[in-house]
Amino acid sequence: TKPIVAVVGRPNVGKSTLFNVLAGEMISIVKDTPGITRDRIYADVSWLDMSFTLIDTGGIEPDSKDVILSQMREQAEIAIETADVILFMVDVKQGLVDADAKVADMLRKSKKPIVLVVNKVDHVEKYMADVYEFYNMGIGDPHPISAANRTGIGDMLDVVTSYF
Ligand code: GDP
Ligand code: MG
Repeated sequence: TKPIVAVVGRPNVGKSTLFNVLAGEMISIVKDTPGITRDRIYADVSWLDMSFTLIDTGGIEPDSKDVILSQMREQAEIAIETADVILFMVDVKQGLVDADAKVADMLRKSKKPIVLVVNKVDHVEKYMADVYEFYNMGIGDPHPISAANRTGIGDMLDVVTSYF
């Protein structure tokens, strides 16, 4: 069976956007209409001579900070149980949020390979200083991407597939 890669992160960081880019089609619903992100969605992704199963751990849109955190914990637990590599996504425009740090602690303890992906880096020069802030989570190097502009994706996939 193929390696499993799960995408975990707060609502609105761009998980489904990346999922759709990698899946090559619009499978996952990108937010704009709150509440309709489907629960968990799988796609087969090929990169160079490798392939893996990608899971978008979307979930319904939570309406409070507490619900966001409990839902993220649940996502992270599912990812820790089922994934070979966890792609942890954060948002450079929102910066390092408390819930990110808490989930990072959980993921770190799991000993699963974590790839820290910083999304919405639409202009590398403009945002690079903000990307470095995410080193403080203690889960390794932040990898900048823009899912919307499809930049940084190849370098990110090189890192992800290096763990297979
Ligand atoms: P999810 O809740 O983590 O699945 O996030 P979505 O994929 O639904 O995206 C949330 C919002 O962020 C949408 O309005 C996307 O268009 C936007 N978004 C996603 N990726 C990027 C990006 O690379 N740059 C910018 N500027 N916006 C993005
Ligand atoms: Mg989503």
